[in-house]
Amino acid sequence: MCGALLAVARKCDRLREEFERFVRELDGRPDAKAVRALAARQAMRMTSEAEEARRHAGALREIAGKTSEETIRTRSRAQSRYRKCAAYGRFAEYFVIPFLRGYDDEAVMMTKLCREIAETVAWPSDSCPLVSRGASNYFHFVAEEGEELILAPALAGTTVLPLPDLVHEMAHPVVRDSQRRETILGPWHREDFVIERVIEKLGDGRFGKAAVRHWIDHGFEEIACDIIAAFVAGPAYGWQHVRACWGREGDKSVHEDGDHHPPDSGRFAVIQLALAQVAGEEERAELTEVWNGVVLGGEEGGEADLEGYYPLELMLEFAEEVLRGCVRAGIKPYSDQLPADDPRSRFNDAWKQMRFEPFEFDASERFISES
Ligand SMILES: [Zn+2]
Repeated sequence: MCGALLAVARKCDRLREEFERFVRELDGRPDAKAVRALAARQAMRMTSEAEEARRHAGALREIAGKTSEETIRTRSRAQSRYRKCAAYGRFAEYFVIPFLRGYDDEAVMMTKLCREIAETVAWPSDSCPLVSRGASNYFHFVAEEGEELILAPALAGTTVLPLPDLVHEMAHPVVRDSQRRETILGPWHREDFVIERVIEKLGDGRFGKAAVRHWIDHGFEEIACDIIAAFVAGPAYGWQHVRACWGREGDKSVHEDGDHHPPDSGRFAVIQLALAQVAGEEERAELTEVWNGVVLGGEEGGEADLEGYYPLELMLEFAEEVLRGCVRAGIKPYSDQLPADDPRSRFNDAWKQMRFEPFEFDASERFISES
């Protein structure tokens, strides 16, 4: 235990040095105040974690060879400190460092875009996560110890098409927010309600219980974020889901991050449900056609286990509630009558051009990435 504590302390030292380097590099950069503050907070945390780990290692040395009530307590305190320290170190190394390394002009643009969307749509939360590039897989939201970050893939921000996914990531902290979740989720904000509904559908055998865990740990939050994103961003979010799924390997979802998401097809149905309120019928039919033709491509199977966990009927029942929740929360829905400078019009215009003027779109994409 002693050696493990000292090793994790040394790791925290190295992380602290790295964070301090970022603090110096970002110093005076006009758009980097919040990000520099993030690096400074992390440097402080690593300092205190390293100190704590060393203190507990010292305490263990003192009691070496002794046995008493007090030594048992010292050991168990040291163990729990080790776990905490290792968890902070992991969060810093896996997420915060890549986040800071990926922080560039595109990241600044995406962070601003999130703020702009939040203002435009009366976003039901004051917190707006910072965005950077550096995701190891797809867009994802991470939160730990008061830090909320969106990590985007390496090329995000050089093209408009995937940006509606930012709205999905912005929705994660809203769904987790204890003040807002009841408004948005209705009775589904209560864990026992989710358990009851899933068990009612799938039974309380092993399969039903595993499904309940998946719903509570991941699924229901992801479905809620899909609904909010489609409600806010409109068909562009549906198109982006299609586009993301074009890229999947075999039957593996691109959203695969340890199986956290409900099956892509169920998500598509949920998105279509939200779009039925905010988008035209013609565009929705077109989406379905492309989905069936390009994504499904006649293939059967895939995601079979998860599909069992997520009966479509249940996903849609929950989706209906979140849709009502968006209205209760006063979020401004997408409509095709929005002014051209609304960020959501920019997403949807880009997708329209991609579909109807693909060659011209290529040129404007190049313009975006070069400007
Ligand atoms: Zn998500």
